[in-house]
Amino acid sequence: MFRDINRFSKQQYDLLIIGGGINGAAIANMAAQYGLSVALVERSDFASGTSSKSTKLIHGGLRYIEHLEFDLVKESLKERAIQLKCAPHLVKPLGFIIPVYKKDRRPLWMMRLGVSLYDFLSGKNTIKKHCSLRRQDILERVPGIKKEGLVGGVMYYDAQMDDARLCLENILSADSKGAHVANYVEVQAFVKQNLKVIGARVKDLVTLNTFEIKAKKIVCAVGPWTNFILKLDHKETPTKIRTTKGIHIVYKKQFAHDALFIQSTSDKRIFFIIPWYGHSLIGTTDTDYTGHPDDVQATDEDIEYLLRETRRIFPMENVSRDEIATTFAGLRPLVHGKGSPSDVSRKHIIEQTPSDIFYVIGGKYTTYRKIAQDCLKYILKNEKMEFPEDYTLYGSGNVIEDVQELARMYQLDVSTVQLLMDKYGTRFKDILHFVQEDPRLKEKICTCSPAIRAQVAYSIKVEMVCMVDDVIWRRLGIGYLGCKTGKCREVIERYLKKK
Ligand SMILES: Cc1cc2nc3c(=O)[nH]c(=O)nc-3n(C[C@H](O)[C@H](O)[C@H](O)COP(=O)(O)OP(=O)(O)OC[C@H]3O[C@@H](n4cnc5c(N)ncnc54)[C@H](O)[C@@H]3O)c2cc1C
Repeated sequence: MFRDINRFSKQQYDLLIIGGGINGAAIANMAAQYGLSVALVERSDFASGTSSKSTKLIHGGLRYIEHLEFDLVKESLKERAIQLKCAPHLVKPLGFIIPVYKKDRRPLWMMRLGVSLYDFLSGKNTIKKHCSLRRQDILERVPGIKKEGLVGGVMYYDAQMDDARLCLENILSADSKGAHVANYVEVQAFVKQNLKVIGARVKDLVTLNTFEIKAKKIVCAVGPWTNFILKLDHKETPTKIRTTKGIHIVYKKQFAHDALFIQSTSDKRIFFIIPWYGHSLIGTTDTDYTGHPDDVQATDEDIEYLLRETRRIFPMENVSRDEIATTFAGLRPLVHGKGSPSDVSRKHIIEQTPSDIFYVIGGKYTTYRKIAQDCLKYILKNEKMEFPEDYTLYGSGNVIEDVQELARMYQLDVSTVQLLMDKYGTRFKDILHFVQEDPRLKEKICTCSPAIRAQVAYSIKVEMVCMVDDVIWRRLGIGYLGCKTGKCREVIERYLKKK
């Protein structure tokens, strides 16, 4: 995938997509597959917005059952099945334990009913049937969990994903089908003719050049930035979305093999403790946010809330701030709704301004394929569109290879070969090809992970990286490990300078 900026001003596209988060990426992928000429621009890196700040679950959303949002849950569970099939390397089944305590807001019978309904709604797409857990089962499966008041629990199944890479694979797929995509290109104004938008004035944030991109239709998939971009069209545009902040901490300990679904005692929220890169991803929070989306961050208060709740569940663990590898914060771009942030529906809607800009708001990561499909149907309402249920991505396909044998052949660690398969799917051989061409690329980037230099070289050549953070956070994900040496950054910087 080549960052060729000059080509953008040479034609009028069928579709210009603004925003390279998961929704924009999927719309581009699907539109290119459908045969449209597509341009996509992203002002920062692909997935650098909300789409790399999620809890990283492809899920029906057990808690939405409580809100009686059965349609949303059912739709999400269907999408979960599609994602498990199309990206088995990035979306993997995961068991969730719900420990229930005497004073919990939702008692054991309610949790049992909830997971039964969840399995019922997923029908033939159930990953594995839920089961009840005795108190003793939970104590064995989750060493160190609070014993006092524990009455038992349930186990159900959902899926975990790599959000940044899933987004990137949509971008790579779109590019391979002929879409023109670029990161670090910002839309700064709309170009109009007879009060209708016919293009956008953009700035390449690498060279600082500005130019115009013309298109027959324009879609804004800018998530939390929607209110701001629509004001570029019309200063008086009323606020379209409600943004709520969610933060996560990555804690340097994996508490259990399974994920935990925990009921907070201080409010009616639930939060997760999920295995992630050998650590635990703990989150999330949900609070209204009225600041600028560029400024969102995890505050001390947010972090303390999650630490306090984790300490409550693991009282013997001495859970401390020093063991936090990293934190991150994101904004949910929600359709306006009343009530507390957690009560607002996660449904998506697609609308159109009087000047003919289409925009997508709301939704969940899980339903991105459906959002892209609905968006294209809405935009091309005069065409009869058929979409195949099968959705393929850049690394789609099953990887059935002997990891040990490959490790021996290429003189790599088994953990490295496994990592390559997990990150790149069927494309992992492209990285091995780099190793074959230049054996120095076998070397690990740093002691903090099994990632190798070939991945950095590959990300520069194939995955359109411009900045060190693009590699650290979104191509390799080593940022989550909280490496203290700084060596990863140094190595990547060196490669980028040679670019
Ligand atoms: C804390 C949290 C946890 C979540 N957990 C889950 C989960 O586990 N499972 C799930 O299904 N969903 C989850 N979600 C929801 C999910 O992450 C979002 O619905 C999804 O990522 C939204 O994607 P998007 O493409 O609409 O927005 P974004 O990913 O934010 O993408 C919008 C992009 O537009 C770009 N942009 C903005 N302005 C411009 C401009 N002028 N020019 C060019 N580009 C521009 C931005 O840089 C950004 O990259 C979670 C959300 C949050 C906040």
